[in-house]
Amino acid sequence: MSKFNRRDFLGLGALLAAPSGWQQNPTPVQQNSSPDLILINGRVFTIDDATPRAEAFAVKNGMFIAIGRTAEIRGMATRNTAVIDCGGMTVTPGFIDTHCHPSGVNELYTVNLDLRTIREIKDALRKKAAETPAGYWVTGFKFDDTKLEEGRALSRKDLDEAVPDHPVSVAHRGGHTTWYNSKAFELAGVTRATPDPDDGRFFRDASGELQGQVAERARNVFSRVGRREEFTPDEQRKRGQAGMAHISQLLTATGLTTVHDAGADSNRLRAYQDAYAAGQLRHRAYLMIRGPYEQLRNAGVYTGLGNEFVRIGGVKYGADGSASERTMRMSTPFVGKPDDYGILTMTQQEIHEAVEDAHRNNWQVGIHANGDVTIDMVLNAYERVLEQWPHPDRRHRIEHCSLVNPQLLRRIKDTGTIPTPFWTYVHYHGDKWRAYGDQTMKWMFAHRSFLDAGIRVPGASDYTPGPFEPLMAIQSMVTRKDYSGHVWGPNQKIAVDEALRVATINGAYASYEENVKGSISAGKYADFVILERDPHDVDPDQIKNIRVVRTVVGGKTVFSRT
Ligand SMILES: [Zn+2]
Repeated sequence: MSKFNRRDFLGLGALLAAPSGWQQNPTPVQQNSSPDLILINGRVFTIDDATPRAEAFAVKNGMFIAIGRTAEIRGMATRNTAVIDCGGMTVTPGFIDTHCHPSGVNELYTVNLDLRTIREIKDALRKKAAETPAGYWVTGFKFDDTKLEEGRALSRKDLDEAVPDHPVSVAHRGGHTTWYNSKAFELAGVTRATPDPDDGRFFRDASGELQGQVAERARNVFSRVGRREEFTPDEQRKRGQAGMAHISQLLTATGLTTVHDAGADSNRLRAYQDAYAAGQLRHRAYLMIRGPYEQLRNAGVYTGLGNEFVRIGGVKYGADGSASERTMRMSTPFVGKPDDYGILTMTQQEIHEAVEDAHRNNWQVGIHANGDVTIDMVLNAYERVLEQWPHPDRRHRIEHCSLVNPQLLRRIKDTGTIPTPFWTYVHYHGDKWRAYGDQTMKWMFAHRSFLDAGIRVPGASDYTPGPFEPLMAIQSMVTRKDYSGHVWGPNQKIAVDEALRVATINGAYASYEENVKGSISAGKYADFVILERDPHDVDPDQIKNIRVVRTVVGGKTVFSRT
């Protein structure tokens, strides 16, 4: 039994819950007015326990106003009502990704290297170099070392063959390592004789020659050399807005209607607001603040400020390494590395201070903690503040919360903590899980265990480290199978219906918005997705191939295949 029990102070709940201001409350439903839009002949999974299945619904002023059978809903329509006839296709609430970095890289201006052959990567870089003045950087991102058909590593020589005269950088999608060409090493003055710094590494081949890959802070020397395009603040701002409009289009094309940004700094806050003001933000954003937290806090801002599209979420911290790049802090070592238990990036004291500050200033806090050691430290801090300054419904978060055990699950449940585990990782990253082994993987990305413990667990891509497609996420959580067919931690499989809840209503709960989104219910925002096929009916290994036909946010179509 944990020393902390939420029920102990429920009497205080009414007093304390009211002024927190985090809860979004629905607008009263106008039952009798004629709808702006009706959807009929659908196979509608509402994710609302009162009416789990329906055929049709009506929308007015961006909200669902009625849910029922096609004949009933059709009867509400007038001449001015738009009609979507689904023809039997599947409809679900819009999908919610609770930890994503959609504004981390401006995708409009960076070469996308999410490609499967070295040849294609070279072609893409060569093309970009042809339109870039000599001496200026050519930068690519989303490269994945475990996905190449050639079955060998990308090398400095590959990059030299593609682009000899510009410095080139190719960032791994995980974000912790980058590849460079010889021109870049030359400009940075790094040779085979250069030693590795303490907090990074220049990877070398068997003969000691620079291989091209560079880890962590060893990359800093490259940021000071070569020429980069320079922009006035105004141009920079326009690029930020255009990049946001672009990524919003990509996100909504996969059925996402709400995305939590897990690292919003001032530039990104501005980009969200600029895109929203220009009518270019298609999805709803919940912004976890990294950077200007103190300024916002001092200005009297706290979690929940904003509107239904751009809303301030929690404050974000990072306390350990990465799951996909195999540096998270665990109580057991990595496979084949008996001395490697991973990396911590905050002390217990720093975590206590950060959490106390956020909690007492009425901010939700989200701390990146992948390994069991780190999760324990974060829970220590949550238990401490909730004991001293109780609140019945605080919902602090553990970002990723990758490796758990029964004791941690109980403490997560008792503190009302929200874990946000990766949901496309099992399928997409496959090979990387060998570093943990099958035993440890039984307790990683543990959607089954969270649900069984009564925790309202959502899902998260962490994009770019993981792909954001929610249908791939559903497949991954349902099958626990990677791209090559290996099943990791089969005990953590969940059913399609459970995966749909994870992807919708549980995501809404993580941002205090379960009253306004996450299900197809009267009074909630009309955010929904039409799928070409029903994920309950297809071969589970094909769920990711189901096509999104239409995505609707607040009654407006933001993506349509036709
Ligand atoms: Zn992240």
